[in-house]
Amino acid sequence: MTLAETANNTHSTNPFLNLHYERAVESLGEDYYDEVAAAEFPQHILRWRNDALLHRLELNPQLVKDDDFISAFGKFEERKPLLALCYHGYQFGEYNPFLGDGRGFLYGQVRGTDGELYDFGTKGSGKTPYSRGGDGMLTLKGGVREVLAAEMLHHLGVRTSRCLSMIETGLSLWRGDEPSPTRSSVIVRMGRSHIRFGTFERLHYLRRPDLTKKLLDHVIEQYYRDFITQEDKYVLFYADLVKRTAELVAQWMAAGFCHAVLNTDNMSITGESFDYGPYGFITSYQPYFTAAYFDHYRRYCYTHQPGICKWNLETLQDALKGVIDYGDMQAGLAKFDEHYQSEYRTLMLKKLGFEQLSHPEADELLNLTIQFLQGSEVGYHQFFYEMARTFSLKWRDEPGLIMADSNLVPASGVSEVFDNWCLIYHKILNNFDPEQIDSIAQTLTRQNPKTVIHKPVIESIWQSIVQEDNWQPFYELIECIQSGK
Ligand code: AMP
Ligand code: MG
Repeated sequence: MTLAETANNTHSTNPFLNLHYERAVESLGEDYYDEVAAAEFPQHILRWRNDALLHRLELNPQLVKDDDFISAFGKFEERKPLLALCYHGYQFGEYNPFLGDGRGFLYGQVRGTDGELYDFGTKGSGKTPYSRGGDGMLTLKGGVREVLAAEMLHHLGVRTSRCLSMIETGLSLWRGDEPSPTRSSVIVRMGRSHIRFGTFERLHYLRRPDLTKKLLDHVIEQYYRDFITQEDKYVLFYADLVKRTAELVAQWMAAGFCHAVLNTDNMSITGESFDYGPYGFITSYQPYFTAAYFDHYRRYCYTHQPGICKWNLETLQDALKGVIDYGDMQAGLAKFDEHYQSEYRTLMLKKLGFEQLSHPEADELLNLTIQFLQGSEVGYHQFFYEMARTFSLKWRDEPGLIMADSNLVPASGVSEVFDNWCLIYHKILNNFDPEQIDSIAQTLTRQNPKTVIHKPVIESIWQSIVQEDNWQPFYELIECIQSGK
């Protein structure tokens, strides 16, 4: 019998308990986690179930009851062990050796229908040895915000974890930075891994290169499978992590997203985006937009994100240098800017309607787009949405007709940058055949949904919840996000 098989010794009517749980992290041993118990909550109200994820678990949403979510992901019945994972991390540039899963645990790991291993990780499930002074809980608003961020980012094409469920748990929480008492929730997120840069940083801090190597082997075996049999697998792993991370930041930047807390404990070793706290989406193009009120020096502002992620990758080298050659890692990191630029360019051209554009004017168009957005008050998302909404074959006839049906942009002659932008866009359009124009319209629509979860949007749905316990606006917002409206 394999380890995975012995993990499934219960037979339940709950489909979540009958999933084939693998003991991937568990089999690494107790140097990497602590076994913990979940909190018992006074109440369990299922506020959100992400049926869109069930197919990947080979579950039919119609056969999964709300009660199945509650007993698995609110009461945590019949599932052991629950693992609080150990990690440290650089927070705002300072090393913090007192981190770790302080309000969450790894509930289990399952293989999706795509053959990839997924974590079910909790947030708000009670105290652990790493809670420090915290209560181990998640506010309901925090749960709502994480659900929305993950769905929004996923639908904007960002590689991200997503929430499987959010359950309101009936506690009154006190928080210094929001009106209190405030309601509580527990979420379960489904993501590629909860192993962080900081997981490795802790092992380096503990001077355990043996444990670092063991964890690296595990990470490569599960998440960098192409390299398993390669002689230089560690070097290839680091180079690929650089690429994945650079691409992820490019995805955030194109999505207009500011993660807000890019500490190394919030950086996944798989290059996936996760853990959404005080994040924000830019309104107009403001490079120094800073989403966390406590980020006094704007360390994690929108435009710093590529540089910060590069710094995080460079800092990680310290933790890995017992196993991977330093020069090789530097060579891998040297490619960061190239990977970032290439992905950012591709994504921004898509936002402008072009799946592929080798045209020599492409870079000029991109520069002018940013220049215009930065120099005007025009909304970042609104601009692209208006492009999609007003796009017309007529735009090929005359530059002055471009976006003329939108009241968002300046009249011709008012902004030189915008006029130049129209000239270039017009020129590029005329390099396409009329039959190709339709696909540009489709790309514009696909890449630029109307719905973006700016702060007032979230605050408004939160007010409906707080004041009237009305969840309809929340469900409608998710419906809009998921259907790409
Ligand atoms: P975060 O800012 O959510 O990435 O969390 C940073 C660290 O603080 C992690 O170790 C968390 O587990 C811990 N933490 C955050 N909030 C709480 C809380 N309410 N109770 C216990 N630990 C917490
Ligand atoms: Mg975190």
